[in-house]
Amino acid sequence: MKKISSASVWLVVFVLVIFAAVTFKDADKKDTTLSVDKFQEQWIKKDIKSVQVREDKTITGELTDGTQYETIVPLSRLMQVMDEHPNDKVTETYIKPASMPMWLQIVPTLLIVLMLVAFWFMYMQQSQGGGGGGNRGVMNFGKSRAKIATLDKKKVTFDDVAGEDEEKDELAEVVDFLKQPKRYLDAGARIPKGILLVGPPGTGKTLLARAVSGEAGVPFYSISGSDFVEMFVGVGASRVRDLFEQAKKSAPCIIFIDEIDAVGRQRGAGVGGGHDEREQTLNQLLVEMDGFGVNEGIIMIAATNRPDILDPALLRPGRFDRHILVGAPDVKGREEILKVHSKNKQLADEVKLDVLAKRTPGFTGADLENLMNEAALLTVRKNKQIIEMVELDEAVTRVIAGPEKKSRVISEKDRKLTAYHEAGHAVVMKYSPLSDPIHQISIIPRGMAGGYTMHLPEEDTSYTSKLKLKDEMVGLLGGRVAEKLIMKDISTGAKNDIDRASAIARKMVMEYGMSDELGPISFGNDHNEVFLGRDLGKSRNFSEQVAFQIDSEVKDLIDEAYAKAEKILAENISKLHAVAQELLLKEKLEGAEFEAIIARTESSEIELS
Ligand code: ADP
Ligand code: MG
Ligand code: ZN
Repeated sequence: MKKISSASVWLVVFVLVIFAAVTFKDADKKDTTLSVDKFQEQWIKKDIKSVQVREDKTITGELTDGTQYETIVPLSRLMQVMDEHPNDKVTETYIKPASMPMWLQIVPTLLIVLMLVAFWFMYMQQSQGGGGGGNRGVMNFGKSRAKIATLDKKKVTFDDVAGEDEEKDELAEVVDFLKQPKRYLDAGARIPKGILLVGPPGTGKTLLARAVSGEAGVPFYSISGSDFVEMFVGVGASRVRDLFEQAKKSAPCIIFIDEIDAVGRQRGAGVGGGHDEREQTLNQLLVEMDGFGVNEGIIMIAATNRPDILDPALLRPGRFDRHILVGAPDVKGREEILKVHSKNKQLADEVKLDVLAKRTPGFTGADLENLMNEAALLTVRKNKQIIEMVELDEAVTRVIAGPEKKSRVISEKDRKLTAYHEAGHAVVMKYSPLSDPIHQISIIPRGMAGGYTMHLPEEDTSYTSKLKLKDEMVGLLGGRVAEKLIMKDISTGAKNDIDRASAIARKMVMEYGMSDELGPISFGNDHNEVFLGRDLGKSRNFSEQVAFQIDSEVKDLIDEAYAKAEKILAENISKLHAVAQELLLKEKLEGAEFEAIIARTESSEIELS
C-alpha cells in the first residue's frame, strides 16, 4: 500500500508537469480557423489585417477585430485572391521557421498518451481502494464533497431561526446529546441516529440543521443529494463511504444530507429500472447508517420536500426514524422572521412588522427574507437610507408577482380587456359572500400576468369548506365572464384562472369527497404519477364508468360557478364599468378605493331608481 501511494505522488507530479507543458504549448493557439471560402470572404470584406506565411505553408494572421486566425487556404489560391482584390493595408510576412526537431514534434502526442495512462491508473487504484486507507491519490473522484463548516465559520444558532419553536424544541434534545453525550449514555438512553426534516422549499430546513451544529458546537458535514449522483459508475457509493469515514474521525458531528430525495428515491422506480447508479448509492448509504453504533456521536439530519417518494428502507427504525415537519410560518412566526431579517436594516418608525406579517399569508422564511431584501434594494434605488412602508408594500407585490413592467407596451384594447377582466374578478368576489376581501387590483403587467386581483384572507385557515371553494371558483371565472359580457369575445388571458378553477373542481370531486353524486370517496392517487416508474399505469383506481361520472360532476361544478358569476355581473354591471374605468385611469386600486367605488355606484343607483 505504502509503495503504491508514493508511486502515485510521482505520477501526480508528472501529470502536473505535463499539464504545464501542454498549457504552454497552447499559448500560441489560434482563435479561429478559416475555411477557404471564409478566408476569401473575409479578405474581400477587408476584415483581414495581416497574413503570415510560413515555409511549411501554414497561413496565419490577425483579423481587423484582433482575432488570431489560421487558415487552410492553399498558397496558390491565396495569391490569386490577393491579386484579384488588392488591399494594400494588409501586412504580409513570410517566415522561415527554425525547423523543429523531430522529437519535439511528437512530444505533445506523447504527453497526452501518458496522461491518459496515468489517469486510468489512478482511477483503477481509486475504485479498488474500497473502504481502505486514507491516502487515495489526488484525483479524488470519489471523495465526498461534503463541506465542513467548522466553528470558526459564521455560526448559525437557534436565534437565527425564527418562529419554529416546536421544531427547535424537538432538536434541542439532539443538541444536548451532542454537547454532553455522557449523561445520555449513563442513563442508557438511545438518541435517534437520523432525523428527517420535511417541509416545502424555503421553510428553513437547511437553516435549522446548521443551527443544530452551531448550538452544539460540533462539525457540520453537509452534502446535497444531487452531489452523490455522478456520471461515473460507483462514484456515488464511494462518496458515501468517504463521507462517513471522515465523519467518524471527527465525531461528535452532524452529517447533513440536503435534498435526500435525489438519492433516496424508491428503489426499482428509475426509468430503465434495475441497478442504476442511484440505487448503489442508496444501498451504500443504508449500509453505512447501520454501520455506526447508536451513540457514536454522529447524528444524521436529512431534508426533503418529497417524503412520499423516499425509499421505505430509509425511514425504518434506526435510520431516519424521527420526522420533524417544518411548515410555512403563521402570522406570529412571520413577524419574528421579519424581525430577524430586519436586524441589519434601518426601518422607519411607521413600519409595523405585525401589519406586514398579516399581509403575507403563505410566505415562507425564504420569501420573507427575499421581501426584506427587495425593500432594501428599492430604498437604495430611491437614494434613501431608511426603509419605509411604501417600499415594503412594493416588495410584497414583487415577491408575489415579479417586478412591475411599466415599460411593456400594451395596446389600448388589451388594457381595456385586462381592466374589465380584473374588475370582473373583483366585483364577482365582492358579491360572493365567502370570498376573501379584495386587497389590491392592478392592470400593470407583472411577470407573466397582464394584471392581477389580490384578495387575502383575514386570518390563516387550515381548512376550507365546500361553499368557500365554490365561491372561489365563481371569483376565478369572474374575469372570463366579464370579458365575454363587455368585449363580446374571450381571450387567452383567463388561462390561469381556468386552470385553477378546474383544479379546484377536480379536487373537490376526487380528493375531498365533496360531490353529492359520488359521495365521500377519494379517487386515484394522482400525486405519484409525476414520478415515472412508480405505479406507472396504476394511478387509476376506478372504473371507466366512474371516470365518466367524475368528468360530468366537474363540469357541473364549473358550469354552476360560471352561471353564478354571470348572474352577479349582470346584476352589477354598472359597478363593473365603474371599477374598470377607474382601473384604466389609475392602473392600481387598493382595497379601500375599490370599496369606495362600489359604495359610490350603489348610492347613485338608489337615487336613480
Ligand atoms: P429550505 O432548506 O427549507 O429550502 P432554507 O433553510 O434554505 O430553506 O431557507 C432559505 C433562507 O430563508 C434562509 O437562509 C433564511 O434566510 C430564510 N429563512 C427560512 N426560514 C427561516 C426562519 N424560520 N427564520 C429566519 N430565516 C428563515
Ligand atoms: Mg434547503
Ligand atoms: Zn384572471
